Amino acid sequence: MSASTPDRPAAIGVDLGGSKIEVTLFAADMTVRESCRQPTPRSTYADLLAALEHEVFRFRKLAETADLPVGIGVPGLVHPDSGVSVCANLVANGHALARDLTERIGGRVVIANDCKCFTLSESRGGAGDGRARVFGLIVGTGLGGGLCQDGRLVLGLNGLPGEIGHYALPAHIVARHDLPLVACGCGRTGCMETLVSGTGMARLALALTGRTLSAAEIATAPDDIDTARVLVTWTELMAELLHTIQLHIDPDCIVLGGGLSNIAGLETRLVDALKKSALPSVRLPEIVKPAFGDSSGVRGAALLALQNDGTDAQ
Ligand SMILES: [Zn+2]
Repeated sequence: MSASTPDRPAAIGVDLGGSKIEVTLFAADMTVRESCRQPTPRSTYADLLAALEHEVFRFRKLAETADLPVGIGVPGLVHPDSGVSVCANLVANGHALARDLTERIGGRVVIANDCKCFTLSESRGGAGDGRARVFGLIVGTGLGGGLCQDGRLVLGLNGLPGEIGHYALPAHIVARHDLPLVACGCGRTGCMETLVSGTGMARLALALTGRTLSAAEIATAPDDIDTARVLVTWTELMAELLHTIQLHIDPDCIVLGGGLSNIAGLETRLVDALKKSALPSVRLPEIVKPAFGDSSGVRGAALLALQNDGTDAQ
């Protein structure tokens, strides 16, 4: 098979979540050749390494390429130099997973935060394709993001760009609605994530209405008087978040991801809200849904492996 054949197997993407692992074999043109899911081993780090080793070997055998590069996305902060990840919900927490897996299986293994993988995917062949500055904003169980400049991730000194869940809540909105300031998993208090993520939205609902409502219930019942009130305040908080992102980064395009990005009409709702909070006369970023949805994370992980491999797909 020629090395230039676009449908040749080119990279393996791994989306390592708290409850499941998704492994996908991509061709050079980023079409999916094979994919599988399995529960994430939660007992020991050795079990996790063994599970990843098994799947990578299986896919490399399928691809008839013993050193096919591997990219892994994880739900946590990854240090850009050491590769050590801080993933509270994984047994990989505190380990250099890519290095340890490389020692077992050989070839190239790279790792990045899953929100950053999503952003890379959407900036290359996705909803932000062709835009110079693409910000991926993921509102799911947590609140995170990533930044791509000219199709490459910006990692900074510590891998922090995009960690917008830990921006401080806006004081004027907190005061207006008497919102709770609660401890965040990062060790600080009053982070955006505590009221804007999926779990945060439920906390916001309890504070505003006294009712126990899940984010899914709120998102699917916008006409209920209580859920409508929650959505209005949540949108205010999101607008402040977008405003801060614009002040810091000024992206051309913001691609929404995560479960809450499925709220009907969310892009329009956010554009209208941002118009009110943005500085006068500034151009607004385009706010769009992802092209690859839930599969963007694993696709971005594979793209990262190809970039770091020097192959640079697409
Ligand atoms: Zn925080």
